Amino acid sequence: MAGVDATPPPLSAGAGDRASGRTPVRPSTLPGSGAGFAQPRQGGRRPLAGLTPEAPVAELPHVAPADVKRLAKLGITTVRDLLLDLPYDWEQYGPPAPVARLRPGDQATVVGTLVRVLARRSPRGRLDLTEALLQDDDGGALQIVWFNQPYLARQLRAGHRLAVAGAVHLSRYGGLPEMRNPHHELVGEGGPRRVGGLMPKYHLTAGLTSRRRASWVEAALPLAERLEDPLPPATLARHRLLPLAEAIRRGHRPRELGEWRQARHRMAFAELLELQAAFLLARRRMAVERATPIPYRQEVIEAFKAGLGFPLTRAQRKAIWEIYQDLEREVPMNRLLDGDVGSGKTAVAAAAAAMVHAAGLQTVVMAPTEVLARQHLGAFRGYLERSFPDLRVELLVSGLGAKERRRVKAAAASGHCAVLVGTHALIEDDVKLAALGLAIVDEQHRFGTRQRELLRERSEHGRPHFLAMTATPIPRSLALALYGEMALSIIDEMPPGRTPVETRVVEPGRREEAYQVVRREVRAGRQAFVICPLIEESGALEAKAATAEFDHLRREVFPDLRLTLVHGRMRDKDAVMRAFREGASDILVATSVVEVGVDVPNATVMVVEGAERFGLAQLHQLRGRVGRSRLPSYCFLLADDPSAKSLERLRLLEQTTDGFRLAQEDMRLRGAGELMGPRQHGMSDMAMAALQRPELLSEVRQEAQQLLEEDPSLERWPGLWRAAQRRLELTSLS
Ligand code: ADP
Ligand code: MG
Repeated sequence: MAGVDATPPPLSAGAGDRASGRTPVRPSTLPGSGAGFAQPRQGGRRPLAGLTPEAPVAELPHVAPADVKRLAKLGITTVRDLLLDLPYDWEQYGPPAPVARLRPGDQATVVGTLVRVLARRSPRGRLDLTEALLQDDDGGALQIVWFNQPYLARQLRAGHRLAVAGAVHLSRYGGLPEMRNPHHELVGEGGPRRVGGLMPKYHLTAGLTSRRRASWVEAALPLAERLEDPLPPATLARHRLLPLAEAIRRGHRPRELGEWRQARHRMAFAELLELQAAFLLARRRMAVERATPIPYRQEVIEAFKAGLGFPLTRAQRKAIWEIYQDLEREVPMNRLLDGDVGSGKTAVAAAAAAMVHAAGLQTVVMAPTEVLARQHLGAFRGYLERSFPDLRVELLVSGLGAKERRRVKAAAASGHCAVLVGTHALIEDDVKLAALGLAIVDEQHRFGTRQRELLRERSEHGRPHFLAMTATPIPRSLALALYGEMALSIIDEMPPGRTPVETRVVEPGRREEAYQVVRREVRAGRQAFVICPLIEESGALEAKAATAEFDHLRREVFPDLRLTLVHGRMRDKDAVMRAFREGASDILVATSVVEVGVDVPNATVMVVEGAERFGLAQLHQLRGRVGRSRLPSYCFLLADDPSAKSLERLRLLEQTTDGFRLAQEDMRLRGAGELMGPRQHGMSDMAMAALQRPELLSEVRQEAQQLLEEDPSLERWPGLWRAAQRRLELTSLS
C-alpha cells in the first residue's frame, strides 16, 4: 500500500529529534532520565520559574508551536495533561552489556568506542546507509546500520564513545552481532543518560517522538508537587493508592516496572472513580427532575404489534418492556438502546412513541444526517400510521421549502404532529413543541447537557424522557463504565430470515479470487465496496493511499468497470455516496468513512484491504454495509501481512455475526480503548486497560458510592467534584 510505510516508526529516537531540526536537550540541563540505571534521581529538580501545572505546554522549554498542535491531538494542552499521561509501555534494554554476551533477539544496551563510520547507498540505491563498527571495552565488535539518516555519518567519528540500544540481529556478512536503527547517544565518563535501560513509550502523533516527550516531562516533573490530588486521603488509604505526585514521578521515571504499574493503577483508579462519581451525581440530579409519567396501556401495544407486519423478536419485546417501565415513572427515563445494524431498533423506538402518543404527548426523533432522518420518517410512518390513524409523523430538516417548514412547525407547536423526525438542527432551531414527552436520538455520541437543556425548555411537561440508540455493540461491562448514568437495553438478536454475509479471510496471493467475485456480482447487476487500509492519525496519508488504490484498481484490475472514490478529505462525500446508491458506479473505493450509515441494498460485495489493521468490531460494522437485501452477499478480508495471531483474530468474523461477541473479543484481544475508537470517550488508555478487570470496576463503584453517601454533593472534596464535572463533559451521552 503506498504511503503506509511513510508513517514514521514510533520510536526512531534520535532520528526524529534531528529530523525535526531541533537540538536534543543537553543532558546537563536534565536530571538523569536513564530510568532503570542507578542514577541520582533528585538532581536538578528546580521548579521552573513562574510555571504552574495549568500553564499551556508551549511554556515548557523546547516546545515549538507545531509541537503544541501535535500534543493537542493527543488531548494534551497543559503541563498538567502532559504529566498525567504516563508512558503506555517501555522499551527494555537493560544496563550496558558486553557484546560477547548478546544473543540474536535480545534487546540490549551497548557502550563502546566507534572504530569506523561509513556512509553508502544500498545496493539498489534506494536507501542511505550509515554503517558503523562499535567496539566494547572487552574488545567485542558490534555492527550498526542506520537507514536514511545520512547526517549521522557526519556527526559520528571513529574514536567517539557511543551508547546504542536496540534489538540484536546477526549481520549478513561475517555473522557479527548487529543493531539496525538503534537509539544512540554520545557518552562521556558517566555512561549513557538517555539511551538504554528503560525507555518510555508515549502516545504519539506524526512529528513527535517518545524521547522528546520524555524530555518535556523531565522539565515539567518538578510541578507534580503542585497538582491537587482529587482523591481523598481515606480513599488512597483504603485502596493502597499512590498519592498523585508520587504516581507521576514513578510513572514517568520508575526504578523498575513495578513502580510504573503501581502508578498506572493509581491513575486508572482515579479516572474511573471520577467517572463513577460523575454518574452518581448525574443520576442524583436527574432523580429530582420531573417528567410526565406515561401510563402503560395494553391496547396500545396490541395495536402496535398488529400494524407491524412481523412478530417482534424476543430481544425487541424485552427492550420495549424495559422502556415502558421507565416511561411510567415520574423520573425521566435515561436509557441507551444498543443493537447491531438491522437488529430492529427503530421498531422499538416506534413502540415507545406510540405509547407516548396515547398519553397525549409528542416524540422527537433526531438522526445524525438528513438522509437518515428521511429513512426514519418512512420507517416511523410505516410502523405507526396504519394502527394509529390520528398519529401524524412529520419531517423537519433544513432541505425543506419555506412553506413546508412553516406547516410542520405549526403542526409541532399545536400538538397536531405526534412524532417529529429531523436532524440535530431540529433542537437548535426555534421549533416549539406543545407537549414533548420523549426525545429519541439515533447514533449520536455527542448529545450533551446543553442540548438536553434546550429540549427541556421546549416542553411544559417537565423534562422529556430520553432514549439514545447506538449500533456499536458495547459489552455490558464497558457500557457500565462509560455510560454509567444510563440504563441499558441490549438487542442481541437479529430478526429471522436474514442471510448472513458470507465472510472469508483471503491470504496474500489469493486476492484475484475476491476480485473474481466482484466481477461476477457486477456482471449480475450488483455493486461492490473496496475499503482501503486504516492509517491511524493521518487523514492525509489515508486519503493518498485510497487514491492510489483507486487508480490501481481502475487501470489494472477493473478497467472495464465504473469506479468511484470517496475518502475523508473530500468535500462532497454525501454526493458521491448518493450517486453510488443510485447506481452511478459499480465499485465504490472508500476509506472507512462508509462505516457511518449508507444504505445501498444493491451492494453485495465488500473487499477490505489491510483488514488486520481494523478492529473486529469495526470490521463487523463495515460488513454490515452489505447484506442489506435478500440477495446473498460476501465480505472478503484481505490481509497484507498477516501474522498467525491476526489471521486467527480475523477468522472470528468468518465464524460469527454476533456483534456483541465480536466486541467482547475485540476488547479482550486489543483492549477497550481500541474498541471504542481512540479517545472518543475522553478516557486514557490506562483507564481503558483497567476496564478489562471487572473486579476493579466494582471496587471503584463501591468507593464512589461510599464517598457520595458520606457527602452527597462532595462538598468536602471539591477537587473530586471538579474532576467529576470534567469527566461528565468528556463522556458524551449524558
Ligand atoms: P436498526 O435501526 O437496528 O439498524 P431497523 O430498525 O432499521 O434496524 O430494522 C432493520 C430492518 O429489519 C427493517 O427493514 C425492519 O423493518 C426489519 N425488522 C425489524 N424488526 C423485525 C422483526 N422482528 N422481524 C422482521 N423484520 C424486522
Ligand atoms: Mg437504525
